[in-house]
Amino acid sequence: MRRSLVMGNWKMNGTRSSAESLAKGIIAGLGEDVADIAICVPYVFLPDIGNVVQNSRLALGAQNVADKPSGAFTGEISAAMLMEFGCKYALVGHSERRTYYGDTDQSVAARFSQAQEQGIIPVLCIGETLEQRKLEQTFDVITTQLDAVVNLAGIAAFNNAVIAYEPVWAIGTGLTATDDQAQEAHLFIRNYLAAKDQAVAEKIQILYGGSAKPDNAKGLFAMPDIDGGLIGGASLDAESFLKIYHSV
Ligand code: PGA
Repeated sequence: MRRSLVMGNWKMNGTRSSAESLAKGIIAGLGEDVADIAICVPYVFLPDIGNVVQNSRLALGAQNVADKPSGAFTGEISAAMLMEFGCKYALVGHSERRTYYGDTDQSVAARFSQAQEQGIIPVLCIGETLEQRKLEQTFDVITTQLDAVVNLAGIAAFNNAVIAYEPVWAIGTGLTATDDQAQEAHLFIRNYLAAKDQAVAEKIQILYGGSAKPDNAKGLFAMPDIDGGLIGGASLDAESFLKIYHSV
């Protein structure tokens, strides 16, 4: 049986002090060890939150990572830097990065590889827009997004990675994919991997993201190929995030 993972994505929210309180609140309510749990925080909060989570089982993640190891890339943060601040995970290819900041399938694949080279677990975010779903292109889009990473990093790289299926139309919109819609996409992703390497496909955690909340998490997490969630809005409140965690 795969262990589940519930991961918060704080996006560009909070202040230094609210971030610290939120992390402390999550740790205080962790309770029973039902699954892996992590928070992806804004870069500048990594040192403070790194101190808060030390000696707890709440893991730390970043929301992106550079596609190059070092050099003249103003404004970027390398995987080696994230490693120094105790990041276990880094999101790559979040739809907001793809939509607003020009991250391409190729740059996402390079970010994925950079994270792995430093021992950081990349969380590869993939998913279709509403338009693409209406045109029945969901599986083609997912395939293209996965192909780019497999072509660069190889299928074995997914031994040490997480995938987050996040339909773009569900992110921050209050529209959640139904349990069946999400399961269908997750199964497609797992089958894609299984065709290349059965063991990788069975082991990898595939998270659902997109308006996951305390009242819909249980149904989603009960689906056989959904191994937890990537939680945006609802991860900004310790109680909601913990309720989702305990829905695993
Ligand atoms: P949401 O965000 O839960 O606010 O929809 C999910 C995400 O963007 O990872």
